[in-house]
Amino acid sequence: MGDLIYPQNTIAVLQKYQFNFQKKFGQNFLIDAHVMDKIIASAGVTKDSFVLEIGPGIGTMTQFLCESAKAVAAVEIDKNLIPILQDTLSSYHNVDIIHEDILKMDIGQLVLEKNGGKPIRVVANLPYYITTPIIMELFESRIPLESITVMVQKEVAERMKADAGTKEYGALSLAVQYYANPEIAANVPPNCFIPRPKVGSAVICLNCHKNPPVRVKDENLMFDIIRASFNQRRKTLVNGLNNFSKIPLTKEQIIQSIKMAGMPANVRGETLTLSQFAELSDCVYDMIKKP
Ligand code: SAM
Repeated sequence: MGDLIYPQNTIAVLQKYQFNFQKKFGQNFLIDAHVMDKIIASAGVTKDSFVLEIGPGIGTMTQFLCESAKAVAAVEIDKNLIPILQDTLSSYHNVDIIHEDILKMDIGQLVLEKNGGKPIRVVANLPYYITTPIIMELFESRIPLESITVMVQKEVAERMKADAGTKEYGALSLAVQYYANPEIAANVPPNCFIPRPKVGSAVICLNCHKNPPVRVKDENLMFDIIRASFNQRRKTLVNGLNNFSKIPLTKEQIIQSIKMAGMPANVRGETLTLSQFAELSDCVYDMIKKP
């Protein structure tokens, strides 16, 4: 096991390099070995896996990953952490330390170069405000993926996993569940990090579907309909869709599409499952195309 699982070693490394935590990079370093074990176990990393770790910090999780995976690419934005990572990871020969902003990187190219375009596993503990955009970017740009295992704010994990009709259910739940099967692997309290964050966290594992669970004629249209339905949560689905400029149908045509999809005209968007949104999307598609 890597020596950074002992919090006193993390503190020693931070002191040796006189490291100053940078708030703008959301730096809260994990110091709890049980949580790291859970991340590794739920991430499904094996000796065949290529892992992209986003935001390795001082390399605590990276040490675990190097021991479990075939190869690891660790992408870190903070230049002050690069010499530290070169030190803490010096005994591992299956890791590439990359000094980059993940938001500016061509991840598809990295997967092609380092893993011959075969699916990779992503592990990340990132500033929470960029985590959801990165997850969606990974999904939408069709990066070949087996899984994404990320630390997120507890409420965000609950929203990703939420079922239709619950108060946590929304566009994020449907987007994530279209691409993957979400499982919460651990709840992580603030005392598992230094410095301690103000919010509770959770590790969520998104096991990617080989094929989406529903098939639709126009994926973008379905996500437009989903967004329109949740934009105005208290409105009925008809009004939500009618107020959305990207859907070029009259109120009457929207009511007809909803009925064709087998739902009552006064249905609320937040009660619809992914299959029902898919069904509705195809009915709206046919209505738009109707001569
Ligand atoms: N993974 C480490 C751990 O668990 O101890 C560090 C986690 S800390 C919450 C977030 C890490 O992501 C920091 O090391 C930070 O510098 C890095 N980071 C923040 N924004 C980034 C970006 N856009 N690209 C790459 N790394 C980033």
